[in-house]
Amino acid sequence: MADINRQKLRSVSDLVRKGGKLLGEPCPKCGGVIVQYQGRNICANCDDLSLIEKTRMAPAPTDISARLRNLASSKIEETAKRLESETDPEKQVRLAELLLRYIEILDKVAKYDKRGAQKEEQQQAGATATTTTANAGASSS
Ligand SMILES: [Zn+2]
Repeated sequence: MADINRQKLRSVSDLVRKGGKLLGEPCPKCGGVIVQYQGRNICANCDDLSLIEKTRMAPAPTDISARLRNLASSKIEETAKRLESETDPEKQVRLAELLLRYIEILDKVAKYDKRGAQKEEQQQAGATATTTTANAGASSS
């Protein structure tokens, strides 16, 4: 019994680690812990957490880039504030380098996002082109 609970607890923490949110309200059916994960409310007792993890192994790439963007933005702000009040030139250089690194991350994430968006656009454009050609062929004959 204790083993099952431990297993469930681990699954809950796994979900939280993957971006799930622990909800303050207990499950109305069993009073268990509820995790909000990918838009779904999952009860640690009623729902099979291991099944959910199997169907959704990795977080979507957009989740990762959004997280990285947030991280880099907050770090840039943090570093910029420190740089403002820093008087030691050597430390300023180090902070400036740090800033550049974070900006680099932001830039790479933006490019990564753009590539993903372009891929989708191309797929959509391809689909539209096929439909247009088919229509043109139908009207000319
Ligand atoms: Zn429940």
